[in-house]
Amino acid sequence: MTRVNSRDQALRERAAAVIPGGMYGHQSTALLPDGYPQFFERGEGAHIWDVDGRRYLDFMCAYGPNLFGYADPRVDAAFVRQLGQGDTLTGPTALMVELAEAFTAMVTHADWAIFCKNGTDATSMALVTARAHTKRKTVVRAKGAYHGAAAWCTPRPPGVIDSDRANQLFCDYNDVASLEAAVAQAGDDLACVFAAPIKHDAFIDQAEPDLSYARRARELCDQTGALLVVDDVRAGFRLARDCSWSKIGVQPDLSTWGKCIANGHGLSALLGSDKARAAAAAIYVTGSFWFQAAPMAAALETLRLIRETDYLERLNSLGGRLRSGLDERARAAGFSLRQTGPVTMPLFLFDDDPDLRRGFCFASEMLERGVYVHPWHNMFLCAAMTDADIETALDAAEGAFAALRSRAPGLEPVEKLAFLSAAPR
Ligand code: PMP
Repeated sequence: MTRVNSRDQALRERAAAVIPGGMYGHQSTALLPDGYPQFFERGEGAHIWDVDGRRYLDFMCAYGPNLFGYADPRVDAAFVRQLGQGDTLTGPTALMVELAEAFTAMVTHADWAIFCKNGTDATSMALVTARAHTKRKTVVRAKGAYHGAAAWCTPRPPGVIDSDRANQLFCDYNDVASLEAAVAQAGDDLACVFAAPIKHDAFIDQAEPDLSYARRARELCDQTGALLVVDDVRAGFRLARDCSWSKIGVQPDLSTWGKCIANGHGLSALLGSDKARAAAAAIYVTGSFWFQAAPMAAALETLRLIRETDYLERLNSLGGRLRSGLDERARAAGFSLRQTGPVTMPLFLFDDDPDLRRGFCFASEMLERGVYVHPWHNMFLCAAMTDADIETALDAAEGAFAALRSRAPGLEPVEKLAFLSAAPR
């Protein structure tokens, strides 16, 4: 279906002149169906409006940060109040201490916190902390897991040199034997094992962590003196009110946070246990904007809402309804849909769709019906969504499946995703 995105199109043309490639990173629509807007005007609750004035029920939640709703009045009031008093000052305000106290009281393994801006700041700092603690170099991490956009972990090769990627060994998520092999290969140089709380890699089914894998990661770190890091930047507080692996009883030494911790305001964090405190105190880490007070005020309010509301139970209930409703509608329309991962972070992929052409078509049809879904990245629910919103999404899905059914034989391959069928993943 062809959509007319006139203001969006005009902005893309202007962007092409002054922004490299017109857009960078995950916000580029280069890997989204044609017709997806690049530019947005505003967000409120569970909805976003594109620059052409169209409103969408948003299942991307800004790729995670929107947990309680866009422009949540409780969080934004705290932010604005602090902005009026001072944000970027010569040093931090008392809020930094209050926030570290609140955060460490909620996250079982954590005794201290360092605040920063992006998830990549936190994951990179975790790596440096582990190396400072162990005086060793090697990190073991799962193939395909995303930990940020710094040279050591960016998924795209241009500009990255071999030494940026040195001292890293890879295992397969949930595969104990491959984890053991990588740790054995690291020998006496293992600094840390980096773990995603769930397998939430792009383009493929999600997977919950196997208890045996998580426990073995903990044991291997204990045996070797290495640190276990859980990267909760994306899943944090959508699975638990604690570190995500607390659900399976495995406590890391370090955990990394970002995205939703200030409900969309710029803040991330590295949390750690006493074991790593001296190393964390020794490394040099900082940033001009890391002490900003207003995002910390927003985070304190967000953490209060996480503790004091039933948001997580509601997200689970909404997510469960979405999953079962989609299953029913897909089956009724004759499609086999794989829905994987936690219901609060849904992902749906079609069977027999190796190059995602069905998924792209379904996503476009959902967009036409005012629902923003993603064809290959996990999505997110927010607490501003209602039962009625889920019904709206399911109605849209019914229409989208029907449209897909009528177009199915003639679906065009998605040129931009040719690499998916060409390369093993
Ligand atoms: N770790 C994980 C698991 C992530 O999902 C992300 C961001 N998608 C990051 C780290 C990096 O966070 P940021 O984009 O804020 O630097």
